[in-house]
Amino acid sequence: MITYHIITLFPEIVRAYTDVSIIGRAQERKKIKVRVYNTRDFTRDKHKRIDGRPYGGGPGMVMQAEPILKAVKKAIGGKKNKKVKIVLLSPNGKQFTNKTALDFSKKYTDIVFIAGRYEGIDARVKKILSAQGGSALGGKASIEEWSVGPYIVTGGELPSLIMLDAITRQISGVLGKDESVEEKRIAGKEVYTRPESLVFAGKKYIVPKVLRSGHHEKIEKYRRKNKKLSTLIQ
Ligand code: SAM
Repeated sequence: MITYHIITLFPEIVRAYTDVSIIGRAQERKKIKVRVYNTRDFTRDKHKRIDGRPYGGGPGMVMQAEPILKAVKKAIGGKKNKKVKIVLLSPNGKQFTNKTALDFSKKYTDIVFIAGRYEGIDARVKKILSAQGGSALGGKASIEEWSVGPYIVTGGELPSLIMLDAITRQISGVLGKDESVEEKRIAGKEVYTRPESLVFAGKKYIVPKVLRSGHHEKIEKYRRKNKKLSTLIQ
């Protein structure tokens, strides 16, 4: 069982995704737990502000360190015997891949995602958590920066959810018999369903003959030829 802890300014974005479909079912089946922490709940500011101007000037605002560190403490405090990974979402981090997802699914009991906003997070969060492995916060953990791709999105919520989703589907029993982990099957680049013949805008589009043939060997051969994920998975 993996417990995910997501530290975010927008819990509603996270819950909208994690409460439904395969991730929702994984929680019902007790394969995973999802805990969400609103960063604003950990500020001392009476207006619940957690951003500040960047030292040295420049555009945008920066997320303060203290509320995030307190949220991490709440998430992993006392988890001394657990295998905890703290993930700082950042476009400058290491590139997340399906292999990372599989590794994480096997190695950790707790994964903390820190979702940034604005211009990012005060660098001392990483320094403090790296230097002390989270021990100053009452737990033990390793911290790394991870990116979900060479592009910038407005916040760390979607990147956290991408990682959570990709890790969770690697856990045995999470996917039902109608879904399957891509690495273990050959679906082919192109998939089709009913109708066999689709007429759209005056043109007819027919499912490839081989897929309708019922000839398993030929279908397997066709799918191998059209395999789509080889570069991604290996
Ligand atoms: N100038 C900032 C930088 O280069 O880090 C951009 C910050 S971005 C607008 C706000 C937050 O979104 C980041 O702190 C990070 O948590 C998240 N984020 C944006 N793109 C990401 C990516 N490709 N992978 C992971 N997190 C990302």
